[in-house]
Amino acid sequence: MLEIQQIAVLNDNYIYLIHDTESGDTAAVDPAVAEPVLTVLQHNNWQLKYIFNTHHHADHVGGNLFLKNHTGCLIAGCAADQQRIPGIDIKLSEGDTLKLGEYTIHVISCAGHTTGHIAFYIAAAGALFCGDTLFAMGCGRLFEGTAKQMQQSLRKFTALPLTTKIYCAHEYTAANAQFARFVEPENPDLLSAIERIKQLRSDNQPTVPTTLAQELATNPFLRTNSADIKTTLAMQNSSELEVFTELRERKNQF
Ligand code: ZN
Ligand code: FE
Repeated sequence: MLEIQQIAVLNDNYIYLIHDTESGDTAAVDPAVAEPVLTVLQHNNWQLKYIFNTHHHADHVGGNLFLKNHTGCLIAGCAADQQRIPGIDIKLSEGDTLKLGEYTIHVISCAGHTTGHIAFYIAAAGALFCGDTLFAMGCGRLFEGTAKQMQQSLRKFTALPLTTKIYCAHEYTAANAQFARFVEPENPDLLSAIERIKQLRSDNQPTVPTTLAQELATNPFLRTNSADIKTTLAMQNSSELEVFTELRERKNQF
């Protein structure tokens, strides 16, 4: 069985520890910082085998070298970004696989937020670790890639099973929800999700992971064919890429 532990760090980052109870193999996804990871490892008596980095930003790789020094773990990240991933050992590209015990981890290349962004997908656990590509009700900013790349990356995620749990790297949901409501104010799924989110946040609970079904119903960046969104943007005759590009631009200003 896979156990997934969520560690909230910095302002709004999530680090995930993935532990296979059969083999004892454990991986840390995007360790922004090292200490909280070491604490959870120690508390569970787990040994760190891997770090999986989705991309090179400091709030995702900041704990790499300290954790590697203290645990001897191997660091896996995007081959194309190897210069920017501290301590990288395993250089990954689209379609590569890794093993965590008997579980196969598929590497999905998802450029957009950065050019060398990857996601880690575990089909047998229905879990996607997508870094800063998809957020609950939002998506990553386009720091290095284009809107077209980001939309293509998101489409790789929307092809996964609807029940897939999506482990995003940030708790941005409340702010994303406001923008989502602005562009699609009458979406009933969105309005009920916003109520749930308010409750969770006021109880200091995470709103992540989300699911693909939930995102398809509420996330404007996955709903670029919504008539209501097109009407809000006055883009009734625009392509999905044009709508996506405009949404991303408006969200930056929102
Ligand atoms: Zn980032
Ligand atoms: Fe980030």
